[in-house]
Amino acid sequence: MDQSNHIASLPAEPRSFGFFVDGSWVDAGSREIFERKSPAHDVAVTRTTRCTTDDLNAAVIVARKAFADRRWSGLSGARRSAVLLKAANGIRERLDELALLETLETGKPISQSRGEVEGGADIYEYAAGAARALHGDSFNNLGDRMMGLVTREPIGVVGLITPWNFPFFILSERVPFILAAGCTIIAKPSEVTSATTLIMAEILSEAGLPDGVFNVVTGSGSEIGQALTEHADIDMVSFTGSTAVGQRTLLASAGNFKKLGLELGGKNPQVVFADANLDDAADGVVFGMCFNAGQCCVGGTRLVVEKSVARDFETLIVEKLARVRIGDPLDPDTQMGAVITGTQNDTILKYIAIGKKEGARLVCGGDRFAGKTGQFIQPTVFADVDRDMTISREEIFGPVLTITTFDTFDEAIEIANDTIYGLAASIWTTSLDKATDAFRRIQAGRVWVNTTITGGPELPIGGFKQSGTGRETGIYGVEEYTEVKSVHIALGRRDHWVA
Ligand code: NAD
Repeated sequence: MDQSNHIASLPAEPRSFGFFVDGSWVDAGSREIFERKSPAHDVAVTRTTRCTTDDLNAAVIVARKAFADRRWSGLSGARRSAVLLKAANGIRERLDELALLETLETGKPISQSRGEVEGGADIYEYAAGAARALHGDSFNNLGDRMMGLVTREPIGVVGLITPWNFPFFILSERVPFILAAGCTIIAKPSEVTSATTLIMAEILSEAGLPDGVFNVVTGSGSEIGQALTEHADIDMVSFTGSTAVGQRTLLASAGNFKKLGLELGGKNPQVVFADANLDDAADGVVFGMCFNAGQCCVGGTRLVVEKSVARDFETLIVEKLARVRIGDPLDPDTQMGAVITGTQNDTILKYIAIGKKEGARLVCGGDRFAGKTGQFIQPTVFADVDRDMTISREEIFGPVLTITTFDTFDEAIEIANDTIYGLAASIWTTSLDKATDAFRRIQAGRVWVNTTITGGPELPIGGFKQSGTGRETGIYGVEEYTEVKSVHIALGRRDHWVA
């Protein structure tokens, strides 16, 4: 049944999950259980397993064997592609179930969850093509007696650590590319949002992925995530999460010099020039700060606006914010749902208090919603924000916008780049020259012109500066999970070295 226009009810009891290794579910047995409550309703919705490091070690042995015997890496791109296409269908068949679980665990609006699940299926289809397109290079210019080849090989066993803000979508931006490259995987989702990653294991298995190629070990970051990053028999870790934990994973990965892909935090500028269509820009800024309740790595929460239009623009934003539909994420009309955990809620409120203390002008919001069950924060705007203030420098990860003004183009670029991060930026102007000059000079892995937070799997994602290393999606996203090998083939008789 299509559930897109229907308000789903909360589950009568939480759904229990084991974990997934070697093509099968493993029961939680006597292991500890993590019970997740819906952040919007405060009702238990899932129970997942706190795996042990022994469970992780066993899963690594399985993934290593599956890689070494070439049951997946030895298949043609065409065969790998067929599995990924079937997986895309499997995702669509379970759209209602996946979207509901995603909303129950994250608190994000159900319409958004449905979009993310459908978007995930689309990424599998893109990556299916990439599995067939992946290729190396040849050098036919080395003379008649030499031929050079550059081959790409799967890097091996990949550990995949994902965050809670887009559990299924971020998984989908990684897994099909890693599989397209021919690697095997051990995924460790965030402990608060593991359900859809576990279901994906079942979908892949039913799509014909050989046993042992995709394994999911659930549990805490400090124990399982840390052990996975330290593990001597894992060849690469793809980590998506905070910059602080990313730094820890960098240190932990040093033991065997494993390759590390890091997709980390951001403090992304929205640069609005006076010649922009201000109504469009204000809509984009409001979307950029409220999307996923501000818990979005590429969320544009740092408004850098030309002084001559700053007051009018502020008014436009406040008017639009008042019309954002905030509330029960199970209601298909809701646009902004709950904040992920009580701890994250407290962190956002702490930053709001710091903003007030540092002398920024509170324009709207600034508190939780009184009388609502669950964790909800009012969209909050601070104006007169000096770029040295904490709220302008640190990633808040909530619906909190700071407004800083500029007079000249150079000043706009300087403010936009005045951050340790370099994940994303948006530019709003009707001048093509200005937009081009700005996107060339802004230091960020993703830049949007006259739009924000959009895109598909064709283009790569990743960060400059402390927002990370490596790239996901696009053909870059497959190449990331390969090793490059040079092969020199001598032709004809050898000129002997020994006289
Ligand atoms: P987090 O860093 O707390 O956790 C991310 C993952 O790392 C979780 O699975 C967690 O269990 C695990 N983890 C925790 N401690 C670990 C350790 N010592 N070793 C290994 N793994 C460990 O991040 P979060 O709070 O889940 O997510 C929010 C952060 O993620 C924000 O900073 C956001 O900007 C960032 N993020 C970045 C991107 C991107 O593509 N750049 C995308 C989404 C989120």
